[in-house]
Amino acid sequence: MEFVKAKTIISKVNYGDKWYGVLYNMNLYRGCCHGCIYCDSRSNCYHVENFDTVRSKENAIAILEQELYSKREKGVIGIGSMSDPYNPFEKEYEITRKALELVAKYQYGISITTKSDLIVRDVDLLKKINEKNDVIVAFTITTADDAISKVIEPNVSISSERFRAIRELTSNGIYTGIMMSPVLPYITDNKDNIKEIVRLAYENGANFIYTYMGMTLRENQRDYYYDKLEKHFKGLKQKYMTRYGDQYNCTVPGYRELYQLFTTECDKYGIVYTMKDIISGYQKKKNRYEQITLFE
Ligand code: SF4
Repeated sequence: MEFVKAKTIISKVNYGDKWYGVLYNMNLYRGCCHGCIYCDSRSNCYHVENFDTVRSKENAIAILEQELYSKREKGVIGIGSMSDPYNPFEKEYEITRKALELVAKYQYGISITTKSDLIVRDVDLLKKINEKNDVIVAFTITTADDAISKVIEPNVSISSERFRAIRELTSNGIYTGIMMSPVLPYITDNKDNIKEIVRLAYENGANFIYTYMGMTLRENQRDYYYDKLEKHFKGLKQKYMTRYGDQYNCTVPGYRELYQLFTTECDKYGIVYTMKDIISGYQKKKNRYEQITLFE
């Protein structure tokens, strides 16, 4: 792993109540080696060179402590939008773990998106944060089929390992669910896959599933994805080019019917799927941030 200089670790965001209700974004790593063929974070617009090489920020934990100490406004910190915080280097360096210790110490909430079951290692810290503040974990799961997950997300826990990790976290009282996104046109956008993901979510105690029935494609990311389609899914590149051209938002064919099926299945199992319900499901301690912010 390489190290790069950094001035900041967390930044305030303005998603309102859209993205898991987070107030800050935290980026401890730059780049990601999980190799997901559809990864949006490798797009040129993010300016991450050699995306597959993981870099950490020098003095990340010292900078983070200073930032957490000095922020006037408490709230939930989001992690995992640009790079998976549980990449293989995390096992040795424990940068995410040390960051969670600080999140607990300074009484913020945490929202984690990951594909790795390494997060289970930190269940003690998640429970500690959860005692006083809000915690939500979203596992990205795009397919119920381990063989497909090995092809489209080659260097990280396969889907069944992620489902097991969901069970482990929910049984420890952590609000945990699934980010079922992207849904890849002609690959994972079939009824059986959607139904099976919802069923396994229920079986493993997931609290929520959030989905975008499609994928995004742009610049560099599109080229990378199309190369992988040529290698693993012969004939699909042409189908994509014909249907989507240069489009950024690529919703799956039969979007409405598939989304309807998804919500019907979620309702059947009592799993929430709107962002509003997900946020109110886990942000039970929101008033506490306001009190801490007010009296500090
Ligand atoms: S885990 Fe996330 S950031 Fe890493 S390659 Fe996959 S989609 Fe990209």
